[in-house]
Formats: sequence, C-alpha cells, structure tokens
Amino acid sequence: MELRYSEDDEAFRAALRAWLDATLPALAPQPGREAWDERRKWDTDWQRRLFDAGYAGLHWPKEYGGRGASPTEQLIFYEETTRARAPYVGVNFVGTLHAGPTLIEEGTDEQKAAHLPKILRGDEVWCQGFSEPNAGSDLASLRTRAVRDGDDYVVSGQKIWCSFGNVADVGEFLVRTDPDAPKHKGISWLILPMDLPGIEIRPIKTVLGSSEFCEVFLDDVRVPAANRVGAENDGWRVTNVTLKYERGTAFVSELVDAMRLCEDLARISSPQYEGELGRCLAEFDALWSLTKRNVSQAARGTTGPGAMVMKLAYSEARQRFGELCLRVLGRDGLHVDGNELVEERLRTLALPIAAGASQIQRNIISERVLGMPREPR
Ligand SMILES: Cc1cc2nc3c(=O)[nH]c(=O)nc-3n(C[C@H](O)[C@H](O)[C@H](O)COP(=O)(O)OP(=O)(O)OC[C@H]3O[C@@H](n4cnc5c(N)ncnc54)[C@H](O)[C@@H]3O)c2cc1C
Repeated sequence: MELRYSEDDEAFRAALRAWLDATLPALAPQPGREAWDERRKWDTDWQRRLFDAGYAGLHWPKEYGGRGASPTEQLIFYEETTRARAPYVGVNFVGTLHAGPTLIEEGTDEQKAAHLPKILRGDEVWCQGFSEPNAGSDLASLRTRAVRDGDDYVVSGQKIWCSFGNVADVGEFLVRTDPDAPKHKGISWLILPMDLPGIEIRPIKTVLGSSEFCEVFLDDVRVPAANRVGAENDGWRVTNVTLKYERGTAFVSELVDAMRLCEDLARISSPQYEGELGRCLAEFDALWSLTKRNVSQAARGTTGPGAMVMKLAYSEARQRFGELCLRVLGRDGLHVDGNELVEERLRTLALPIAAGASQIQRNIISERVLGMPREPR
C-alpha cells in the first residue's frame, strides 16, 4: 500500500473542514423515523447543500457533474464528514451510490442527461427493485415479466425489500424480457418511474418499527423501451455493474459511521467490556486500512481481493458490535425509541443479508479469490 496525503490533499481537507464547520450548525434537527415526507426533504436538502458546495458526486466524473475527486480525496471526505458527524447519504443511497454510477457506465446520453443532474442536486430519489419473493440470493431466477408492445414494455410482477420505495421517484428494476432463454440471459435493466399507472407500493414494518422497505406490485405497467439500460436481455451484465458499486464503495461511509458509534459506546461502557470494545474498534480500524489499500490499488489501476471481502467482513464485524451494544446497555437496552445503540443492534441483524447474504459472499470469495471448485448448480 502506498498512500500519502499530498499538499493538495491537505488543502482539500482544510477547505472541506471549514465548509462543514460553517454548514452543520445551520441544519435543522433530523425528522422522526416515520415522517417520510420530512425525511426525504431533509436528506435531499443535505444533498443539495453538498451539490452547491461542489461536494456532490465526489467520485463521479466531472463531465457528469461530479467532482472527479481523486481516491485519496474521497478518503479524506469520509474521514472529515465522520469527524464532523455530518449526515449520512440517506434516502437516495441507491441514486448516488449505485444507480447513478451504473448510468454513467451503461446509460445512453439521453438517460444520463435526464437523471444524473437531478440525482446530484437531490431532485430525484431512486430505489432498487431487484429482489422478489423467490429471487434473492438466486437473483437471476426473477420472474417479473416485461413484454414488448410497440415502443413500450408491459411489466407485471412483484418486487420485495425495496428500500425507500415509498419516497422514490424512480427505480432501477430488473425484469425478464425472454422467459425462454437460460435464466441469466433473459433479463433487462429498466429505469422505472415510480408514479406510472399500475404500480402499487406497500410498506413493510421492520423490527425497528419503521417502514424502510416496501413490496412493489406491478400490474400491466407501461414503461417506454427507451428506459432500458443496456441491450435487451443483457441486463445481467448491467446488474453486475450495479452490484460492483453496491457491494464495494457503498460500504465505506457506513464503516466510518461504525467507528463513530464505537466512540459513543466507549463513553458509556464499563471497564468490563474494554477488551471487546477494543476488539471491535481494531476490526473497524483494520477494515479502514483495507479500504485504504483498495483505494491505493485502484489509484494505480489494479484491484485485489480486498474489494470482494469488504462487504462480508464489514457486515459481520458490525453485527458483533451491535451485539456488544446491547450487552453494554443492559436493562437500558429495553428502551428502544430514539436510542441509537439499541437501534444499532436491531439494524445490524439485517446487514449480513442486505446486498447479498454472507453465505453467498463466501461462495464468491471461495470460487473467485481462492479458486475453489464451483458450487454445483
Ligand atoms: C436491509 C435490507 C435492505 C434491502 N434493500 C433491498 C433493495 O432496496 N432492493 C432489493 O431489490 N433488495 C433489497 N434487499 C434484499 C436483499 O438483496 C436480499 O434479502 C438478499 O439478496 C437475500 O435474499 P433473500 O432475502 O431472498 O434470502 P434467500 O436467498 O432466501 O436466502 C436465505 C438464506 O439461505 C442462504 N442461501 C441461499 N442460497 C444459498 C446457497 N446457494 N448457498 C448457501 N446458502 C444459501 C442465504 O445465505 C440466506 O442465509 C434488502 C435486504 C435487506 C436485509
């Protein structure tokens, strides 16, 4: 690993720090968990502030309105926003972290022009409609049908676990365009405006008591064929572009947030838990070093196994931390409402499942990194 901060990097850090110091005190208090309109407004307002200050789409190329920041500047951004306790990306994580980058790689000029500026300005919120009741780990077995009719596809089926589908304007949706082809070869990736006739969104209550995800029912929804990203039936390849971003870079800001929570827990913890707390912090610190290594490799145009193990190692470390939170809290852990550390325990239950279950990540690592025999299919 070779990663040293240059004078330019430090100048970037100083300007960002000054901006954060001036901006954060002016933010209104964060709205309640179920105040969805206000939450959307609060998160997109933060995005707009980032945009106005030139910090939106930090890693997006300049030609698409991003900052085109160097990998080290991106690390500095995460370090400084965590230090200052700035807001997390929020309801538009799909738009900013993986739909936008997928459009940059795979979209037509019209698709890029229609969506990328709006995502960066906080004017358009995206969700992801990949999973179905019988297609999660085995995503390619998805059954939502899209039948071509003139210039449209007519889409029918059901999606599930669609995070923030209740406040999204647009979705990245996977549909089956050729039911007779082998399952990986008959899929297409569509841009789906969430207000089209025939779409019904039903929120699902989570263990936290909030409705972060939704079921989405599609009943003869007419979607312009011009909304397809990539060629018809080539959606599995485009999906892998999306997953590359979803399982890679998207976790970096969560990791730095975990380090912040570790500090919070240390403030209320007793000496009895020092060893375990130290272990959690060491694990997060090691993952931060791994992130720097990944970034350092990316800056030299190479990749290593680090990016593939990141999602698995991070989600399991964070789940161990969530368990520790509850033990440190003891009886106080019974007070769920508004206690970030109790929520941590409940929220982290889902991490080894979200964005690809741990068992599947282990399969990927054993086959693609360690070269072990493929799982029988
Ligand atoms: C917090 C959260 C947010 C999410 N947001 C979205 C979203 O916005 N959009 C979206 O489309 N989806 C979303 N998902 C869905 C997520 O992608 C799926 O839950 C995940 O892919 C697992 O699929 P599944 O739930 O159907 O579980 P299943 O695939 O049914 O798996 C159940 C269990 O069986 C194991 N298993 C399955 N196959 C194998 C195998 N071959 N070998 C070994 N073990 C196996 C799995 O590891 C898992 O432990 C979200 C999920 C969570 C938890």
